[in-house]
Amino acid sequence: MEAVTVPFFISHQGCPHTCVFCDQHAISGSLGNLPDRQQIHAAIGSWHRSAAGRPLEVAFFGGSFTALPESVQDELLTSVRPLLESGIVGSIRVSTRPDYVDDSVVRRLAALGVAVIEIGVQSMDDDVLALSGRGHDSAASEAALRCIRRQGVAAGAQLMPGLPGDTSASALRSLERVIAAGATFVRLYPVVVLHGTELARRYQAGDYRPLSLEQGIALCKQLLHKAMRAGIDVIRIGLQAADGLNSATVLAGCWHPALGQLVRSELYFDLLSHLIAPLPDGVPFRVACHPSRLSDVIGQKRQNLVRLRPSGALIVVRPDDSLLEEEVMVEYSTQCFRSDIITGLNYTISEV
Ligand code: SF4
Repeated sequence: MEAVTVPFFISHQGCPHTCVFCDQHAISGSLGNLPDRQQIHAAIGSWHRSAAGRPLEVAFFGGSFTALPESVQDELLTSVRPLLESGIVGSIRVSTRPDYVDDSVVRRLAALGVAVIEIGVQSMDDDVLALSGRGHDSAASEAALRCIRRQGVAAGAQLMPGLPGDTSASALRSLERVIAAGATFVRLYPVVVLHGTELARRYQAGDYRPLSLEQGIALCKQLLHKAMRAGIDVIRIGLQAADGLNSATVLAGCWHPALGQLVRSELYFDLLSHLIAPLPDGVPFRVACHPSRLSDVIGQKRQNLVRLRPSGALIVVRPDDSLLEEEVMVEYSTQCFRSDIITGLNYTISEV
């Protein structure tokens, strides 16, 4: 059963850095006050009542958790401890910077019940990191991921394709390197330019051009495919509207409230295009897919069907629970072609 996340945003708390893209207040929608024990218990209690028996995962997102004073980290984690021991909370995750992680930090967090540590890697290209004002290099991220895994804790890597100096090739190399360093899962956050940030200033001065939505989708498609081939979960693509993003906070960049679905849909579109290529023009065909993938296969506003139609008269997309989630089947006359988005697609690195 999928866990329900109980989020606590630790805005800019403990973080002495100013990354060019960062406005933690806009991202989290929080003013930066740390929750106290009472507030933590009240929030968890409320999520517990609405979770309908699903396990809860408490997540301290936002700033740099392990840069907080140890006493504050301990207070936050020990506040959750009784609920962890009673089984109301199933696990705890924190997010932090790579240069605030070492063996003793991970051991201490694990002893206090932290099961997942997410690292803001952003890029594994040192030039991109320098241009983005990150204040650490790729070796720090590599060391942090390896250290977390060494202690038996799950390691998440957050990547931001489209930072200053980034290319499709360097974004793909970044993904390859976090996978090689042992990342358990990945989040992809193509750059969104927020008002009031250094990146906004560079964008308005014409010194920086973010990925457009279309470019972000094209690049994330290749990244997602590579991660799937490596067996690594991509648990999120794109910031959420609930993260405080809206037309007042977003100046430019690759942002859409359902970016992940747009990206997955592109994989199915590419696979279907490939499967129907041998069919005579204009012939009717049927598509079957796993029931949970119907909307990805069809695409938002039926975009995939609209785009495929010139190649044939598409009759219907039907659910078939004998298929895997990644599979599709094209039925044409008495013939049937079956493939999946992991093994049935090959992308060569192309700049978007
Ligand atoms: S390290 Fe994180 S919290 Fe600090 S400025 Fe950079 S992105 Fe923002």
